[in-house]
Amino acid sequence: MRSAHGLIGGDPVEPMRLFPLRYPWAYAHVQQAKRNTWFPEEAPLHDDVQDWHERLSEEEHRAVEILLGFFNPMESMVTSNLLLALYPYLTAPEIRLYLARQAWEEANHTMAFEYVIKTLPVDRERVFGMLENHPAVMAKAAFQRQLTEEILQTGTDLHTTEGLQRFLRNMVGFFVILEGIFFYSGFAFALSFRRRNLLRGLNTIIDWVLKDESLHLSFGVHLIRTFLEEYPEVRTPALAGELREMIQKAVALEADYNRALLPQPILGMSAELLNAYVRYVADRRLEELGLGAQFHASNPLRWLAIEIDLPEQVNFFEARNVSYEVGRPRE
Ligand code: MN
Ligand code: FE
Repeated sequence: MRSAHGLIGGDPVEPMRLFPLRYPWAYAHVQQAKRNTWFPEEAPLHDDVQDWHERLSEEEHRAVEILLGFFNPMESMVTSNLLLALYPYLTAPEIRLYLARQAWEEANHTMAFEYVIKTLPVDRERVFGMLENHPAVMAKAAFQRQLTEEILQTGTDLHTTEGLQRFLRNMVGFFVILEGIFFYSGFAFALSFRRRNLLRGLNTIIDWVLKDESLHLSFGVHLIRTFLEEYPEVRTPALAGELREMIQKAVALEADYNRALLPQPILGMSAELLNAYVRYVADRRLEELGLGAQFHASNPLRWLAIEIDLPEQVNFFEARNVSYEVGRPRE
C-alpha cells in the first residue's frame, strides 16, 4: 500500500488540510504565482496592429501565425493534462493547490492568445487550422496528446512500477518538454521582434507568459525530483534512457517546426540559430533531471540571457525559504 502522506495515493476527494506542509517548496510556488498575477487586456495592442499593417513583411506575418498556431492550442492541452491526468493522482494538498493555480494561469494564457488573435489582423482560420494541417505543429501536438491519452485510456496503476513510470513520462513531457523546451523556443523567436522594436504589446504578454511558464517548469522539476525520491523503484537505467530519448525526439520535432517557421532568416533569427538555442535549453533540462547534458551546446542567443535565463537562475526555491515557517503561513 502507498502511504497516504506522499505525493500520490491519498483519498482523491478528501477535503484539503494544508498545514502542516509536507512540501514547502510547492507552497512557495503558489505564493510566487499569486505575485505574478496579470490580465491580458493590461497589454495594449494598438501599436502592434499598426506594426502589422505598416512594418511587418508577409514572411513575418506568416511566422507569427505559426507561432500562435502552436502556442494557442497548447494552452488548453496543458490545462486538460493538469486536470485530467495529473490532479486525480497527485493528492498532496499543497501540490493540488499549485495545480489548481496553474490551471487558472493556463486558462488566462488561453484568454491572452484569444485576445491577440482577435485584435491582430491574423488569419484566424489559418491559425486554428494548423492543428489539423501544419505538419510540424501537428507532430508536436501529437507528441503531447499521446502522453495525456496514455493516462486517460489505460488509466495509471500507481501500485506498479510501470504505472509510476508512465506517470513520470507525462510529467516530463508537459513540465519539462512542452513548458521547458517547446515554449522557450517560441519565446526566443517572439522576443526577437522586440529587439527590432516590433510587436511590443504581444511581447509584454510573452514576458508575462514566460514568467508563468518558468514557474511551471520550476514546480515541475521539483515535483519530478520529489517523485523520484519517493518512488526510487522508478529510477531504472531503462527509464533514464527513455527520458533522454523523449528529449532528443522533442529537439528533433522542434527543429522541424523551426525550419517551417523560418524558411529564411528574419529579424536576425534563423532556424539554425534557434535550433542551437533549443539544444542549449535541452541540455539544461537534462541536467535539471539529473541525466547529464547531451548536446554540449553553448547559448547562441546571448541577448536572451537577461530575458529568459536569469529568472531561472534566481532559484530561490532551492534554498530553504526563510520568509515563512512550515505550518505558519504569513499570507
Ligand atoms: Mn501556459
Ligand atoms: Fe504552463
